[in-house]
Amino acid sequence: MSGNLEIERFLTENHEQVIFCQDKAVGLKCLIAIHNTLLGPALGGVRMWHYQDTQQALDDVLRLSKGMTYKAAIAGLNLGGGKAVIMADPEQAKSEALFRSFGSFVETLNGRYITAEDVGTDVHDMEYIFMETNHVVGVARSHGGSGDPSPWTAKGVLEGIRACVECKMGKNSLEGVSVAVQGIGHVGRELVELMLANNMRVYICDIDRARCEEYSKRQNVTTVSTEEIYDTDADIFCPSALGAVINEKTLPRLKCKIVAGSANNQLASPECGDELFRKKILYAPDYAINAGGLMNVSIELEGYDELRANRMIRSIYYVMKNILQHSQRENMPEYRCADRVAEKRVNDISRIRGRFTGSSRSMYYRKARR
Ligand code: NAD
Repeated sequence: MSGNLEIERFLTENHEQVIFCQDKAVGLKCLIAIHNTLLGPALGGVRMWHYQDTQQALDDVLRLSKGMTYKAAIAGLNLGGGKAVIMADPEQAKSEALFRSFGSFVETLNGRYITAEDVGTDVHDMEYIFMETNHVVGVARSHGGSGDPSPWTAKGVLEGIRACVECKMGKNSLEGVSVAVQGIGHVGRELVELMLANNMRVYICDIDRARCEEYSKRQNVTTVSTEEIYDTDADIFCPSALGAVINEKTLPRLKCKIVAGSANNQLASPECGDELFRKKILYAPDYAINAGGLMNVSIELEGYDELRANRMIRSIYYVMKNILQHSQRENMPEYRCADRVAEKRVNDISRIRGRFTGSSRSMYYRKARR
């Protein structure tokens, strides 16, 4: 794709700001994209990845930052959408200096962008960023932060699954419901534990077979291959690894009643969402069901409180019910309904609150950490 086309996309997708930051001395090359701050400062993690080139990184940061606007909006948060990408191999290039340098660039944005962990970065990296800026969340509990968001993402996904099961299967208990979990990483393994605690029957797969081994003696868990996961007769398919797993190749194979999981960008294209709807497979829009981690880190901005986090995560059940009722009422695919709900909230609330104007708006969040 040519550079001009990328710039064209930036303009058509209405991003507010994209900045390129470089600090050659520490090997930092990164992009920060602020998609929308109508609801509040843009919050989104920093991804560290060995991108092929700058255009691929730009494409990723534009797509991801837009997704964060929708996620925050549907989650009922007073936050906008943003994201950052560091163009470097997370296995090779991590250093204190690199993350502190990144933190100092975040600081220059005066709170318009708040960072957190994402693919390739973790809670330790956030500590270095935190040395240079207050505009970071997902830092360690010992620093007044909320720590790893994955268990909270998993809790939220389970709440969303409850709503889907009620709507599609007419059951208000998860007992005996079967689910195929694709990927048992940070979120997937937490999900499996929650599912087993609810007496669900679980199929699991992971490209890392060793991760599956430890489940071999667990009751109600069946390990399948990464290919077989699409063909199981489980009630729910739960993507928790990669994006674009609902695609032309996998769609004809799915026998499930529900697709509901933590992975971002599960639909390879909007048409795949239409096809799920046509096949009467209920789809839980990814950014709505996986917002638990974002909810949890957002609480850090006001002083972390676990009770509040639990209450907020529970709201994913109601968010999902609202989307599903909307979908039934309008006979419209769930992903479209979610977009509508998110866009309506951005429009309605921004009219009331007026436009976000940099650091003054971030006063909305009282920083409790020091
Ligand atoms: P992770 O990297 O810890 O886990 C992903 C797991 O998937 C790994 O165990 C990996 O081996 C496995 N995997 C990769 N390719 C696979 C394949 N083809 N088939 C089966 N397994 C495969 O990531 P995570 O933090 O658990 O996140 C999982 C998904 O949820 C990602 O899409 C992520 O973007 C999304 N998500 C995560 C959070 C969070 O709080 N961590 C929040 C929102 C969304």
